[in-house]
Amino acid sequence: MPDSAEELKRICDRIRREGKLTKWASGKLKKAFGDRASRAIRAAQTKKVKKYVYEPSGRVRWVVVGREREYVVLREAEYCSCEDFYFLVVSGLVPYCYHILAQKLAEALGRYDTISEDDGMYEFLSGRF
Ligand SMILES: [Zn+2]
Repeated sequence: MPDSAEELKRICDRIRREGKLTKWASGKLKKAFGDRASRAIRAAQTKKVKKYVYEPSGRVRWVVVGREREYVVLREAEYCSCEDFYFLVVSGLVPYCYHILAQKLAEALGRYDTISEDDGMYEFLSGRF
C-alpha cells in the first residue's frame, strides 16, 4: 500500500524534526492506522521498543515487547513475527501491524532502549523465529 507508506514516512519525518509526538502527528497516525496507531503510540511511550545491537558485527535487530511475548521487527523488510502480520499484513488487509508502527515511531522519537548482545545471541534468536 504505497499511500500508507508515504503517509507514515511523512508523519515520522515530522516527528523526527519536531523531536516529539505532537497532537498533529498522533491525530494523523490514528486517522491513517486506527487502533493499531493507538497501540503503537502506547508501546513507544512506554518504551516497549528495544534495539538490540550485536557485537562485534554491529548487526541490529528491533524487538517490540508485547503482552505475552516479544516480536522481532525487521525494519528494512518491514516484516514482523506476529500473527497480525502473518494473517492481515501479508494478505494486504492492513498495511502494518502495530509493532512495525511502534518501531518506526520509537525510532523517530528516539524513544527506545538499546541493548548490546554478543553475536552468538543473534544466531540463537534466528533459530527461534
Ligand atoms: Zn507485528
